[in-house]
Amino acid sequence: RIRPQLAKEKIEGCHICTYVMPGEPQVFLGKDKAFTYDHVFDMDTQQDSIYTHCTERLIEGCFEGYNATIFAYGQTGSGKTYTMGTGFDVSISEDELGIIPRAVNHLFRGIERRRQDASENGLPLPEFKINAQFLELYNEEVLDLFDTTRDLETRKQKSNIKIHEDANGGIYTVGVTTRTVNSAAEMIQCLKLGALARTTASTQMNVQSSRSHAIFTIHVCQVRVCSPDNNTDNRLANNSEINEFETLTAKFHFVDLAGSERLKRTGATGDRAKEGISINCGLLALGNVISALGDRSKRSSHVPYRDSKLTRLLQDSLGGNSQTVMIACISPSDRDFMETLNTLKYANRAR
Ligand code: ADP
Ligand code: MG
Repeated sequence: RIRPQLAKEKIEGCHICTYVMPGEPQVFLGKDKAFTYDHVFDMDTQQDSIYTHCTERLIEGCFEGYNATIFAYGQTGSGKTYTMGTGFDVSISEDELGIIPRAVNHLFRGIERRRQDASENGLPLPEFKINAQFLELYNEEVLDLFDTTRDLETRKQKSNIKIHEDANGGIYTVGVTTRTVNSAAEMIQCLKLGALARTTASTQMNVQSSRSHAIFTIHVCQVRVCSPDNNTDNRLANNSEINEFETLTAKFHFVDLAGSERLKRTGATGDRAKEGISINCGLLALGNVISALGDRSKRSSHVPYRDSKLTRLLQDSLGGNSQTVMIACISPSDRDFMETLNTLKYANRAR
């Protein structure tokens, strides 16, 4: 996704160095570099179009028990937070809502529709339990953005959050605040509070939130009558002794990744440099995992999930039966040419 030029870039005379081939999912950078993806969204693309193309079907998959992950990748300022909707800006217009609030609305409308359908067909209503978690990964440390009980001093210390794998290969966390929510409005309120916590914590700790990964996770647990499609005989269905129930669970991760810019450019030294190195470790590990998953010869052998907390946490939601979307966010301006080239290459490798 190419964001529009910012006012500052226009004032400072930056030129646009990206060009999208009309009707083709292809982007040119400068004169001679071309990349092709599943979709390419030019500067004028609206938020609802991104949602429809990149997320809608993943939410539908969650109703059938498939995990999903959606990433926003790119240098700081390229539009990751805007695209994902991980900001806490309350005054944003309906049109400008990012992916997460749209997904949340879609999810709760989907629940309502399934209840209505069941009710119209005289079937027992499906039951849903929806939970949310919001984590920040910083320097291979996991912070809980929903944890309001811990003050800054304890936040700075190592958290007690642990990442485990169960016997079926499912990943679960211990020590993370889980919010059970009953409506879209409640979920969006949680998102805003978490996003605010992310910003205040980073200001107080004198670190940049652009150097951390923010992971908003929705857990969907559904109990419904088995194969409702084959169960249209209402007389049968109404007899609760005949109904068989199934439980479906799915996780949806929304990941606003750390800025992908290289250290050299920000002139990092000391602690900053250390941060930079371990953030790159998450992004590097993610690139390696995605390319191992995409490579048929490697898939059965080793996928290096354990190389970072990020990939470990997402292990059961990448590959396998999971649906994964990566949105590479880029700036159109020539001053960002090198970072844009790096992002396009990374995205190309992930494909
Ligand atoms: P990142 O999270 O990658 O650092 P942001 O999402 O904060 O970047 O975007 C940087 C700036 O660009 C913000 O002021 C944001 O509002 C603006 N912006 C990003 N993408 C768009 C877009 N598609 N349309 C309009 N403004 C955008
Ligand atoms: Mg951001």
